[in-house]
Amino acid sequence: MKTLTLLGSTGSIGTQTLDIVTHHPEQFRVIGLTAGSNVALFAQQVRQFRPEIVALRDTNQLADLKAAIADVDPQPIILGGEAGIVEVARYGDAESVVTGIVGCAGLLPTIAAIEAGKDIALANKETLIAGGPVVLPLVQKHGVKLLPADSEHSAIFQCLQGVPEQGLRRIWLTASGGAFRDLPVEKLATVTVADALKHPNWSMGRKITIDSATLMNKGLEVIEAHFLFGLDYDQIEIIIHPQSIIHSLIELQDTSVLAQLGWPDMRLPLLYALSYPDRIATNWEPLNLVKAGDLTFREPDHDKYPCMQLAYAAGRAGGSMPAVLNAANEQAVALFLEEKIRFLDIPRLIEQTCDRHQVDNRADPSLDDILAADQWARQAVAEATQTLSLAGTC
Ligand code: NAD
Ligand code: MG
Repeated sequence: MKTLTLLGSTGSIGTQTLDIVTHHPEQFRVIGLTAGSNVALFAQQVRQFRPEIVALRDTNQLADLKAAIADVDPQPIILGGEAGIVEVARYGDAESVVTGIVGCAGLLPTIAAIEAGKDIALANKETLIAGGPVVLPLVQKHGVKLLPADSEHSAIFQCLQGVPEQGLRRIWLTASGGAFRDLPVEKLATVTVADALKHPNWSMGRKITIDSATLMNKGLEVIEAHFLFGLDYDQIEIIIHPQSIIHSLIELQDTSVLAQLGWPDMRLPLLYALSYPDRIATNWEPLNLVKAGDLTFREPDHDKYPCMQLAYAAGRAGGSMPAVLNAANEQAVALFLEEKIRFLDIPRLIEQTCDRHQVDNRADPSLDDILAADQWARQAVAEATQTLSLAGTC
């Protein structure tokens, strides 16, 4: 029996993790849950999983949550706001914390969980991208495991089992190509939010679905792979694989290539992050290669999707630059979702913001430096957006 805390339980990652718990009650027990604002679903989860402690970020809705679970006996500890989420992350005897929060908002709770000695099942890639320089030393210091739950990184981690340290030459991250993979580049200028939210293979939260449409998700995953596996950027390749059956590959020194395959279903990487190094039997539909059909591959198109190169450049610059790239992207995606900027403004705003940060880039940033860089980049994007609107481009 493993005890879990789940950050972001009402989201795509959160609900899929709870599905695993529902089907494996003998393996997993939930200690803590947190959510942003969806009180109705959160209250239902509290009833079903009976956590010891919960936190809701939106304190305006805390009274509604308390009313909705007033008859739950015993009552969990109920907290609110960002501080409440940090408390849940570090609470009690949860062995693993699944980070299903979206964005850099996951950074402080993840640090709290690591400092409390908990293993991390990492879905929230933004935390590692922005906070890698402080998160990794803490993982070492506290002797906890940082286990990838992102499907590509789980694939690589699975392929690496049994590979000697010097045996790896490079890795290949597969990318579905996102909502616009078959759209001619000249049509990208006028795509809508609704168009961008139609992912061909995966059902995910809104922010990561937009990241998939810009291919920034793959760029962020390049930086995530750098931090998780200690690879140089020239050892990390991207390949478009529209069917999302091969979740990523590793190439060894002798040219042998190993891949991990499966249906596009996030529950598998989540389960492995929770069961590692064990394998838990499931009743999920086994992969059928005949049914999967043709598996095809293409070169990534860097002219059509500049976000990948922006991410490589920010990763290579290191220091606080990945935090700036990530925050600029979060802010730009939020503005796009609010229909305040156009799709192609996203890479433009990120590039401008990263360019401006070059002179201030901190080589070995502290947590405060990272948080300051994150705030600065959000502000910089907001200001640049006003210039865009004044210039009439949106
Ligand atoms: P989502 O939007 O579906 O869910 C996010 C969860 O976090 C919700 O419970 C929400 O209430 C909560 N939340 C949002 N903002 C918050 C804040 N500021 N403070 C506290 N809680 C907040 O997102 P998702 O698709 O589940 O993605 C979660 C993370 O997992 C992201 O970092 C994403 O990149 C990563 N990820 C997701 C998938 C997927 O299939 N969904 C795959 C790989 C990686
Ligand atoms: Mg992924």
